[in-house]
Amino acid sequence: MATTSVADPTSVGVQHHTMFIGGESVDSDQRYELRNPATGEVFATVAKGGIEHADRAVENARAAFESGVWSRKSPEERSAVMKRVADRLATDFEELMEAETLANGATVRQAGGFHVGLASPHFMHFAELAEKFQWVQQVPTVNHPTMSMNTIQYEPIGVCVGIVPWNFPLVLGLWKAAPALAAGNSIILKPDEKTPLSLLALARICHEEGVPAGVFNVVTGDGEEVGARLAAHPDVDKVAFTGSTQVGREIMRLASATVKKVSLELGGKGPVVVLEDADVETAVDAALFGCLLYSGQMCESGTRLLLPDSVHDEFVERMLERVKTINVGDPQDFDTDLGPVINAEQRDRILRYIQWGKDDGAELRCGGGAPAGEQFEKGYWIEPTIFTGVTNDMRIAREEIFGPVLSVLRYSDLEEAVRIANDTIYGLSAAVWSSDLEQAQEVAGRLRAGTVWINDVHQVEPRCPFGGYKQSGLGREIGPDALKEYCEVKHVHMDLTQRLDRRVYDLLLSTPPSQD
Ligand code: NAD
Repeated sequence: MATTSVADPTSVGVQHHTMFIGGESVDSDQRYELRNPATGEVFATVAKGGIEHADRAVENARAAFESGVWSRKSPEERSAVMKRVADRLATDFEELMEAETLANGATVRQAGGFHVGLASPHFMHFAELAEKFQWVQQVPTVNHPTMSMNTIQYEPIGVCVGIVPWNFPLVLGLWKAAPALAAGNSIILKPDEKTPLSLLALARICHEEGVPAGVFNVVTGDGEEVGARLAAHPDVDKVAFTGSTQVGREIMRLASATVKKVSLELGGKGPVVVLEDADVETAVDAALFGCLLYSGQMCESGTRLLLPDSVHDEFVERMLERVKTINVGDPQDFDTDLGPVINAEQRDRILRYIQWGKDDGAELRCGGGAPAGEQFEKGYWIEPTIFTGVTNDMRIAREEIFGPVLSVLRYSDLEEAVRIANDTIYGLSAAVWSSDLEQAQEVAGRLRAGTVWINDVHQVEPRCPFGGYKQSGLGREIGPDALKEYCEVKHVHMDLTQRLDRRVYDLLLSTPPSQD
């Protein structure tokens, strides 16, 4: 990542953005250049924070938490503020679209429906949950319910940190910030270096709509420096991380010194299992949508397509015809289907995987490099790429590529399909295609993944959990239990009699106290 000093003349004329700490805009003497992935051109700069900014954010978040200015507000009051934020996410849609898409190169069609389009309803979901959630639950004592009473109380954890990747910063950031705020915590977000603008906008909106200073902070900076400092900071109580499995392991290690609560949303290598009776035309579209949406840079992408021998050839031929209709180009053009990948480093990484696929003996059936044409000479581009003849031991079938590369594998019977699908360290998502819903459900039940779609892909529902089995993660975001990921649970036991229950106290004090 290129960094320049504040005085660097190359950044003149490009809008500069600052961090948001303690309710204030905070600059740094270092800055990042943000590049548009479609052109490679610098379109903004942003303050590059360091350890001192991470520490300052923790100090502010802790002070706000202890003051009770947010943590001791009633859930209804927190909910009212959050509903106003959710409304603003809808009215500020255009500004958020620009902040998100210029930085990550998502097509405007996709960003409108997913990256930015989901922000307001998902934030509103947590605003409403704050009001509906049973923060205090009464539980009678089993053996002597008239003598004592129990309550289970859900309380905020304290200072929470959210570390966010570049692919959908707004939604992935608010999946952490919104439940944290709903439960009364303070939150610090650390966006990816390449895509901080939409989360800086979210912080500003929260501040304007009444989230008190210090409760919502955004620190920009390198993962290895600022992210690592926040994950290890002794005064941070919880770390929620979305990103690669490799960094997720490091987050666990850093958080372990002070036994912080940790939730992780990590990588995937999603299988799409097409059964013999699937409607081929629909499943072909779904296979392409499942793998190529946002140039394959989605953790839950269906990157391993499992086809039965009986339909393999017909399916592949139809898919190779259909892929030709995908329009690659300027992501800001509403007619574009597929945009660039995030940066040169990611493009080169994807190209290395394509080479490894060929070296391992897979057959490259389309794509494999940058599309031809003058408009693709700048920016970072990879054509839709399909390999057939892939076996599950090949690197392109085992490792997350995070690009528009589909691996097609064959199977001869259902047992083999389930075995191949589950033969991975990941378990984030999977899909089954069949016209027999009973059989599809049977297969879905055997797939080891946190989300399984039947005759569908990429569906995320705020009322249902999202997260991974195996090395795809720990804990769940969204869904009915998402709030609990940001709560400590306390059991309060209360005696109702004002005298000791001898059945219990006799275990030690067998002689009753003197009545004198
Ligand atoms: P990454 O792990 O490199 O970075 C993610 C975030 O972690 C960034 O903010 C980065 O600055 C920070 N970071 C990097 N090193 C760090 C360290 N040592 N300590 C603390 N923070 C550090 O991931 P990426 O390349 O940005 O994103 C792609 C990965 O994210 C893929 O593996 C993808 O599957 C995964 N992802 C998962 C989900 C999900 O919900 N499961 C969603 C989106 C992306």
